Amino acid sequence: MKRIYLDYAATTPVHHEVLQAMLPYFTESFGNPSSIHSIGQEAKLAIEQARGKIAELIGARSDEIVFTSGGTEADNFALKGVAFANESKGNHIITTKIEHHAVIETCKFLEKLAFRVTYLPVDEYGLVDPDDVRKAITNKTILISVMHANNEVGTIEPIAQIGKIAKEAGIYFHTDAVQTVGHIPVNVDELGVDLLAMSAHKLYGPKGVGALYIRKGTKLVSFMHGGEQERRRRASTENVPGIVGFGKASELARQDMDEEAKRLSYLRDKLITGLLERIDHIKLNGHPSNRLPNNVNISVDFVEGESMLLNLDLEGICASTASACSSQSLEPSHVLLAMGLSHEQAHGSLRFSLGKWTTENEIEHVLDVMPRIVAKLRAMSPLLKS
Ligand SMILES: *Cc1c(COP(=O)(O)O)cnc(C)c1O
Repeated sequence: MKRIYLDYAATTPVHHEVLQAMLPYFTESFGNPSSIHSIGQEAKLAIEQARGKIAELIGARSDEIVFTSGGTEADNFALKGVAFANESKGNHIITTKIEHHAVIETCKFLEKLAFRVTYLPVDEYGLVDPDDVRKAITNKTILISVMHANNEVGTIEPIAQIGKIAKEAGIYFHTDAVQTVGHIPVNVDELGVDLLAMSAHKLYGPKGVGALYIRKGTKLVSFMHGGEQERRRRASTENVPGIVGFGKASELARQDMDEEAKRLSYLRDKLITGLLERIDHIKLNGHPSNRLPNNVNISVDFVEGESMLLNLDLEGICASTASACSSQSLEPSHVLLAMGLSHEQAHGSLRFSLGKWTTENEIEHVLDVMPRIVAKLRAMSPLLKS
């Protein structure tokens, strides 16, 4: 059976050109970038070229990019790094209820130390109100962290507006841009951010590598202590092939971003409209228009998301119940609950995320299969009391 992958928000396959770019750095160009000899310097040069490509993608300077082991580490680095370096100024952090676990759990950890965290609410579409950010600021606030686009429902947040507020107040501003970098335009100056987290495996690069953008002059403590790599901000021998792959993926993303966003938005809207037409008692989660080009998230009444997922999988269709992180647990999505959905609606949610190899035929196939699956599950549903 040919499988249909619609879970690009969880991870993407490595682009073949990315893999080709990476391969030499496992074998002939295997050097340690800290070594003085030519094999080491070859690796060092490759890292710096990759850094330049990533900086270019987000409108930053090369020396403002620090490589990490992924998006999670970049978020941890931003939050802990700023918190620990600015304790003397204050202990208050502002974030939202819909952040990725990498941010939420780091904030919970900081709360166990001496920090206080405000988790801002969102509206029914998952939007944060910039005015709420403004009102939450106190003279103890040292950091604001709001994600650029939500990974579950695709809502794009008003980051530029929040950036202005943060700047006026002289407070550091971090955004988790793991879902947007390489997919929609991201420019650190236009967004007004001081810190920005990215991850290669969400844009057709390899897993286990990411980066944190750190605006020049931002005070934060190093994440790993040891050698002098990454200008002493993140010790440990660099993941050279991974970084090279991240650089290549960034270069490719820049080339086809606009075209790809247009193509995916069309397929996304076809899937949304088709599902809403063919299935009753179903609702779209997230903002109707201000959403990621590849995200479709729905709640289907009277059925469990997990059951839909398993039935889709039997048909070769890979989707997700909101996020890869919640797919192992029975807790409903914190994002959907924050948007005001009931536990039942949150449990009946399903996310399709589209990507580079998604075709119109695949979308049509999903539109054929879904009504059948929902009808079958509803026929045996204890939730459906008529
Ligand atoms: C995937 C993801 C992360 C985590 O990135 P990893 O590289 O898997 O650690 C963080 N934030 C968001 C919004 C994500 O989608």
